[in-house]
Amino acid sequence: MPQVLSLGELLVEIMRPAVDQPLDEPGQFVGPFPSGAPAIFIDAVARLGVSCGFIGVVGDDAFGRCVLRRLKCDGVDVRGVRVVSHRTTGIAFVSYRSDGSRQFLFHLPHSAAALLTPEDVREDYLRDVKAVHITGSALGVGEGVREACYRAAQICKQRGGMVTFDPNIRPEILGVEAVRVLCEPILQACDVLLPSSQEATMLTGDADEETACRNLVERGIPIVVLKRGAQGCVVFTEGHRVEIPAYPVIEVDPTGAGDAFAGGMVVALLRGMSAEEAARFASAIGALAVTKQGPMEGLPTLSEVESFLASV
Ligand code: ATP
Ligand code: MG
Repeated sequence: MPQVLSLGELLVEIMRPAVDQPLDEPGQFVGPFPSGAPAIFIDAVARLGVSCGFIGVVGDDAFGRCVLRRLKCDGVDVRGVRVVSHRTTGIAFVSYRSDGSRQFLFHLPHSAAALLTPEDVREDYLRDVKAVHITGSALGVGEGVREACYRAAQICKQRGGMVTFDPNIRPEILGVEAVRVLCEPILQACDVLLPSSQEATMLTGDADEETACRNLVERGIPIVVLKRGAQGCVVFTEGHRVEIPAYPVIEVDPTGAGDAFAGGMVVALLRGMSAEEAARFASAIGALAVTKQGPMEGLPTLSEVESFLASV
């Protein structure tokens, strides 16, 4: 059975090929690219050569096959993915603006992805689990998906495994208070928290991200890594703060960097690296992830990471 697990939304991303092509006008698209934050994470882990599996739901359609084929080819165990005939696979349409911001249009709450339930998280499938990664995006898809995430985190904890959490949930729809309530059960189980700046302050209500991260460590989360895109990351552990610069690369598509980073972090920690060493390794995975168009396309194998690290 897989050692690293993730669960939640599987979807395809269909994107505008150039910047400033808004979604409300006719025009070109490229894709479908396999995507979904927890899926990008697990694909990163698989490409790094670690035994891993995914729990989710796709439709019995071309987009579902596209995502599943990709995960399978990269080495993800997909026996935990259910295929349903009465709903279609999740879709995200994406357009980038020249100021770096993104416009998204999701087909998700009414897609197959939202049919995930706690019953999909089977104890025997988690028999050998060493780490479960939860994304805020999954907590926001709907109640069934959320309860499935809580259950996976809880089983992993009971078995002495590590729970990692990327709180990439959008407060715009649910409101900050509701988002904090949804995140709380995962924060309580969490060993490694991977927020970006606004996510850190959203979770604590502090005015600045540094204070927020320190408070998150103080409340008992052993490792908090603040992700800052091309500015790198900051690792917070009890009484320590270390800044880790980003590797210099040419950014083609920033989507999925955070999920790739999380994959690197989990693989490195399972190999016994310290929080700081793990974040340095994860930074290389995040950097390589942004060098290709499509959220999973830049994810490196271990030997690609090694040659990259030897070249910088
Ligand atoms: P997303 O939500 O799109 O998955 P994120 O906001 O969660 O991304 P980022 O901070 O964008 O996460 O990226 C995670 C890490 O990946 C960064 O801390 C950095 O180490 C690396 N990274 C991201 N963008 C770049 C870049 N342009 N150049 C080099 N490294 C990068
Ligand atoms: Mg993020």
